[in-house]
Amino acid sequence: VIEVTGLRKAYGSNEVIKGIDLEVRSGEVVSLIGPSGSGKSTILRCLNQLETATSGKIVVDGFDLTDKKVDINEVRRHIGMVFQHFNLFPNMSVIENIMLAPVETGKKSKADARTQAQALLERVGLADKADARPSQLSGGQKQRVAIARALAMEPKIMLFDEATSALDPEMVGEVLEVIRELAKSGMTMVLVTHEMGFAREVCDRVVFLSDGVICEQGAPAEVFGNPQQPRTKEFLSKVL
Ligand code: ATP
Ligand code: MG
Repeated sequence: VIEVTGLRKAYGSNEVIKGIDLEVRSGEVVSLIGPSGSGKSTILRCLNQLETATSGKIVVDGFDLTDKKVDINEVRRHIGMVFQHFNLFPNMSVIENIMLAPVETGKKSKADARTQAQALLERVGLADKADARPSQLSGGQKQRVAIARALAMEPKIMLFDEATSALDPEMVGEVLEVIRELAKSGMTMVLVTHEMGFAREVCDRVVFLSDGVICEQGAPAEVFGNPQQPRTKEFLSKVL
């Protein structure tokens, strides 16, 4: 459902993605790991066109993102993204945050969007917070609302960029639990995470990036248990 071929991305003269091939099948959960600055976020941002690739081909859900005729807003509707910082709208209630995109894009009537938002809040364990303001929630609760908001567009693919990195340690678990449930439900996901234990347990495949290239990839048990490349070994020895 995602097919990346020969992806390159430069910022000015600084090439940070140096030729990446990556395929993600429907229902697959892939984690991108690697040192700071290795290009993990840049790849996610290219996948939903927050950044434009310098060269290479990205096909998402049958849409060639490099084709100028493709309506990128249409493609984005099928891709949910959750960042480190939640960016909820502070002047709206929790449920209004979740209803906004489906209503604004004409995907759902207000009534339908509300019913769906309530169901999503239940799914992330926040049924009683529908009318709260984001400022009244903990970090973990805000991040779960952000996930519910992304799910409201019924995406085929979810991208997570360090969704738990800004959270206090005691709130990490509740957010990982929601992501784990999504994985079980068959959602296709690409996640950038520093939670190696979680990646090992939940992901089908781990991709280790170093300096803008894929250095090593494979099943979590292989990559974590028996890394082949010196750079993978060095990185894992620091983070495990
Ligand atoms: P981290 O683990 O710290 O989040 P990362 O693997 O996500 O790192 P990226 O954010 O993808 O790394 O950055 C890759 C490289 O691209 C870095 O050297 C960074 O400085 C550079 N970079 C990222 N965004 C921009 C930008 N908007 N303009 C210029 N350079 C950028
Ligand atoms: Mg990053």
